[in-house]
Amino acid sequence: HAKNDGANRYLFFNDSMNKQAVKRLQVENLIRYGLKEDYFSVYYQPKMDILTGNVVGMEALVRFITPKGGLVSPASFIPVAEETGQIVEIGAVVLRKACEDVKRWLALGLFQGRVAVNLSAKQFMLPNLCQQIDDVLEQCELPSYHLELEITEGTVMQSPKLAIDTMKKLRARGIHLAMDDFGTGYSSLAYLKQFPLNTLKIDKAFIDDMDNARGRNMVDTIVTIAHNLSLNVVAEGVETKDQLDMLRKLRCETIQGFYYSKPLSAADFAEFLAAQKQRARLSAIPG
Ligand code: C2E
Ligand code: MG
Ligand code: MG
Ligand code: MG
Repeated sequence: HAKNDGANRYLFFNDSMNKQAVKRLQVENLIRYGLKEDYFSVYYQPKMDILTGNVVGMEALVRFITPKGGLVSPASFIPVAEETGQIVEIGAVVLRKACEDVKRWLALGLFQGRVAVNLSAKQFMLPNLCQQIDDVLEQCELPSYHLELEITEGTVMQSPKLAIDTMKKLRARGIHLAMDDFGTGYSSLAYLKQFPLNTLKIDKAFIDDMDNARGRNMVDTIVTIAHNLSLNVVAEGVETKDQLDMLRKLRCETIQGFYYSKPLSAADFAEFLAAQKQRARLSAIPG
């Protein structure tokens, strides 16, 4: 009987259709292990005011830190976590860690703005989402003013009416809402007007495309739409001085990207904030 099982397993592993399933199962197991052993960590990337160069916020980005200290990018596990539903638990860990870190930086006087946390579709659809967020904020003693949530067009378009309700509840708490990767999904402009958003984040793909006139016009148009709807604009994935200069001309007010900083560990980000504070203090000295 055992022999037979072995043979079946052999067949299973050699079937190319199932190889993917095995890979998926491996990632799923790794995520379960990581959640149990606390291998998920949060990195932070600053959002900078394009005119002053001050840090106005930061985005929390999840990382899987392997036992050997390596970093695993979310691109390789978020899709699986979305499928299995583990993203809900990962998201809860990220939210709690981000709120704890920001609370500490506020207490140290290093920062006064908002931390933006990405919400997956499954998380956003949780019936008890608001309660969960309330609980975390209360446990961390963090005023809701310091929290921003990033959601994608895909997430809100799954059920726009429901999404608007949830968004209103979050806004009523003073939480800010940003639409992430704007322009890559299929949300309609009719809906964009109805979503109670604070911010549009222009996807990196559009910023990359600013090396040609049509691409620049596209970004110009997105910035104009956002401003006409009284939304702030964040440009994502800004890597060069050229892009920065063009975005300033187009009156985009906030930028995020490797030009200023890659996502940093909490310890490194605290140092970044301290250096920024020092810089601001020095530039404020007259003469
Ligand atoms: P996103 O929310 O659009 O985050 C921006 C991504 O762009 C991050 O990738 C960031 O490291 C990268 N990035 C920022 N500036 C630059 C740049 O100048 N050049 C380049 N090449 N890349 C830049 P990351 O951290 O790998 O995250 C990828 C995606 O995974 C995120 O895209 C987000 O959709 C998802 N994600 C990350 N953390 C979480 C999380 O905690 N929860 C959920 N649900 N999704 C997350
Ligand atoms: Mg994001
Ligand atoms: Mg984004
Ligand atoms: Mg993006």
